[in-house]
Parts: sequence; C-alpha cells; structure tokens
Amino acid sequence: MCLMCLIKYVQKASTLYCIMKSMNPLFPNGLILINLFCREGNSPNHHQTITYNQLLRNVCRCANALKLLGVKKGDRVAIYLPMIPELVYTMLACARIGAVHSIVFAGFSSESLCERIMDAQCNILVTAGNIKCFIEEEVWICVFRLTTPWDESCDIWWDDLMDGVSDECEPEWVDSEDPLFILYTSGSTGKPKGVVHTITGYMLYTSLTFKYVFDYHHDDVYWCTADIGWITGHSYITYGPLANGATSVLFEGVPVYPHVGRLWEIIEKYAVSKFYTAPTAIRLLMKYGKEPLQRYDLSSLRVLGTVGEPINPEAWLWYYDVVGQQRCPVIDTFWQTETVKHLQQSKPSFFLKPPLTVVKSSTSNDVFRKPWPGIMRGVYGNQERFESTYFRKFPGFYVTGDGCRRDKDGYYWITGRIDDMLNVSGHLLSTAEVEAALTEHPSVAEAAVVSRPHAVKGECLYCFVTLKDHKEFNRTLMEELKRKVREKIGPIATPDFIQNAPGLPKTRSGKIMRRVLRQIARNEKDLGDLSTLADPKVVEVLFSQRCEAAA
Ligand code: AMP
Repeated sequence: MCLMCLIKYVQKASTLYCIMKSMNPLFPNGLILINLFCREGNSPNHHQTITYNQLLRNVCRCANALKLLGVKKGDRVAIYLPMIPELVYTMLACARIGAVHSIVFAGFSSESLCERIMDAQCNILVTAGNIKCFIEEEVWICVFRLTTPWDESCDIWWDDLMDGVSDECEPEWVDSEDPLFILYTSGSTGKPKGVVHTITGYMLYTSLTFKYVFDYHHDDVYWCTADIGWITGHSYITYGPLANGATSVLFEGVPVYPHVGRLWEIIEKYAVSKFYTAPTAIRLLMKYGKEPLQRYDLSSLRVLGTVGEPINPEAWLWYYDVVGQQRCPVIDTFWQTETVKHLQQSKPSFFLKPPLTVVKSSTSNDVFRKPWPGIMRGVYGNQERFESTYFRKFPGFYVTGDGCRRDKDGYYWITGRIDDMLNVSGHLLSTAEVEAALTEHPSVAEAAVVSRPHAVKGECLYCFVTLKDHKEFNRTLMEELKRKVREKIGPIATPDFIQNAPGLPKTRSGKIMRRVLRQIARNEKDLGDLSTLADPKVVEVLFSQRCEAAA
C-alpha cells in the first residue's frame, strides 16, 4: 500500500496524528535510585528520573487523552516513536484502556510503517517530530503528504492533548486472553506478520523470565539496550522490569555517541547490575579495545545477558573477560517475537569456555512441543498463515525456523535460520522482502538475496541482480538500488553487496539454488553437487565477478 493510498484511507477514517512538541525536557541531576525508571537521553546531559508514581500519572493522562480521541477497548493504536518516555507512556496507556498497541521500530521506512498501519487497521498514529524529519529525508513525497501542511482537522500536538486531562484513569477490565499488542516480525514470504500477544500469558512470561533468568533482586539496576520497537524492548524495558517494580534505564541514544565509552559511562552512572545487550553491540565496541572501558567503574555489574543472534566465541570471551571482568555469568537467551519463552544458556562450564549459542530447555527435551502461556496467539487477521508458518511443518510442534544440534548433555546449539531469513545486527529480515524491493527498480529483471558473514553485524545482505536487456550496471544504479531498499523497508535492510548477475543458478524447474549463491557470496569454492542446475556455467561467471568489497 503506498502512502498516498494510506493518506486517503486515514482521511476517510479520520485518523489522528499526535505529534510530540517537546522531545528533550532537561531535568536536573540528583538521582534517587529507588523504584525509578531512569531515562538517559542521546546526550549525556539529558537525563530524567521517573518515579512509578509519575509514570502512573503520565500513563493515565495519556490514557484519558486517547479516550478523548475515541479510542476504546480492542482498538489498535500505531506507535512510531524513538526511545523516549512518551513511548512507554503510550504503550501502557493503551494497555490501561484495553486498546492494542502496535509499535513500529523507528528505523523502518514510512512505507513499512504504512504497511503495518494498514494491516493492523489502526486509527491513530502516535509519532514524533524528529521522526517526521527522518521521513522527510527518506521519502520526501510521502512527507509532503504526511506532514505538510499541518492539518488542524486531524493533527494534534502531544502537549496540547495532554494539557488539562486528568491524571487519574480507572483501568479497563479485560479478559486474560484479550490482546495486549501486535508486533510485526519479518515473514519468509516477504509480508510481515502481525504477531498477537495476549495480556496474561505475555505478562506472566515476561515478568517471570525477567525475575529468574536475570536473577532480579530489588536492589538491582537493570538495563536492556534493545529498542522498544522489538520484542526484547517490549519485554525487558517496559513490561518485565515494571511488573517487578524494578529500577531500570531507558536509553535514547546509540553506543558510540558522543564517544565510544558511552555504554560503560552509563553503567557507572547508574551503577547498573544487570546488563542485557546484543552481540552486534559487543562486536562493535570490541573494535575500540579495552581502553574506553577502563575509564569507568563497572564493578556494579553482576549478570550479563545477550540476545538477538548467535554470539561468536570472540565476542562471548570479550563480554565475559573485559566487560564482566570474569565475575559475571553471561546468559545467552534464545527466543523470538512469537515465543516470549527463553531457552537460556545455563551450562556452567561454558562460563570457562565460550559457546556458540548453547541453550537448554528448562522444561523438557521436546523444546517446543507443548504450548506455554507466553506463546503468540495468532497472526493478526490471518489464522491460516499462523497455522501454516508455525505448526504444519512438524505436526504437534511449534517450529521456530532455526536449526540447532543437541549435544550429549541435552544442550541445544543454535546453528542459524533454516528458512529464507537473515539476521542483520539482531534484526530478522526476509530475503523475499528485499528481493521485492530490488525488483521494483525499473532496470531489474530478477533479484536473489543471500546472507554473508559480517564482522560487526553478524550477517549482511549480499544481493544478486539480473538487469533487463540493455540496462547498464554501474555505481549510480547501485546507489539507486540501495535507496530503493531503504525506502521500502528501512535503513536496517541496506544491502552491503550488490553483484551484477547476467544469470542466476536455477534448477531445471526454474527454482533459484540459494545454497549456491550463498557459497559464491562467502567465496566457498567447493560447491558440491550441481547436477540439478539447468546451466552450471552461470556459476563460473558469478564466481569470477563476485564482490570483494562492500558496495
Ligand atoms: P525476533 O523475533 O526478531 O526477536 O528474532 C528471533 C530470531 O532471532 C530467532 O528465531 C533466531 O534466529 C534469532 N535469535 C534470537 N536470539 C538468539 C540467540 N540468543 N542466539 C541465536 N539466535 C538468536
């Protein structure tokens, strides 16, 4: 769905855009770390402490404002915000009035946002001024439609909306199986799936995993660096810590701004004891060596967590030795938007020797055989897709889409995706979605996308494109293709490698052999059996022209 159509749709449905006016209120120093939610801005001088009482009042104000706009139990509210407290207020306000939030990661493009708004049939979008700028830079024509001119009939400033509304709001009574939120995750067909979670099962699982996996105690200061736009942020920034009355940190910025010791500085500043991050962040910071860490006191740390993608041995060791100073267990949690249930690394000897991702089910050997309270309840609006994606391949089991092997002690070693999905910096992307974006370019006849290992991101996108007759492959085209993907999906999906492919390796029945393309991308010369290929010569040509350097 293009944005123009969306605009027509939203105008018909009198959709409202609530835009925040004041994004960075400065609060004085002086932190009291009791039952607080500590917000750390992009700049080290921007910080704020929010007590549970203040949080409740802000949530109630926002809930009342949403009600004034006509939002009722069961309605879907889209949220497209950076990591600021208003994001937490809005999601909890939805929960308080029984509305269903659908948060879209702020790194997605406006087209991805539209697709998700349309699919979840949201009536309201809560967004922010700086994201409007992002949209403006990315897809200016859309922005023109979205933001200019300011439309008094349907655009509302956040501050105006909150002004004067009561800070008390009775919670709406809901059924334990009513939906709490929809969160989109990439699907191997290319179209994202709206994963639906319900109130009690999800809350039970996030609150318990928070407490037991991270060994939470009331004097802990907890910090999860994920973005709330993903399930880890939903669960370990908002719901898990807050359900336990924990003191936690909400960080708006990035790990290397304004300096490469930023994460360590924050750990010292708030005396963080439980720290949860992604391998991609560890790999990024490893590059700068030990010196940036040595400037800060990290003695408060007690448990280190990792999530989102397999952690390689070098990154694991660095995390354990340098960050945790060989005192802190490293908990590798394997889970998904859909499962909420964790499998966590718990084999003590692995604290001494680094694992790849090793996990053990805390309940049974048949890891995903029985349903559990935190499992997704469906794909929004598409029961058939829910059943076929997760339950048909191995009847009686939930299929995660990941491969693993089990060792003699019953530990599972995650080996990576078994479907056409990629994990770039912990973000799951569908190759089909990127291919669809590439083939929208008028010069491209066909595209195939595979993963290639990347030192920081874990995996990156290696794209093969076959051009239409008489079209020329050059740097301008490469830039246009990258731009196309950024516009359609978002900057997280920007291809690292784009190779001109006069032909693609296909079987006689016309199926692209992705295994061969993966091997070319990785420069693996032993290609195995190619007898099913219609034209094996294509492989030689592709090998001879493979990209050594990133585009
Ligand atoms: P998402 O639903 O976006 O959170 O992505 C879930 C996927 O990320 C899983 O199916 C795995 O492919 C990958 N993943 C998440 N955590 C881990 C981990 N600890 N080790 C290996 N892969 C992981």
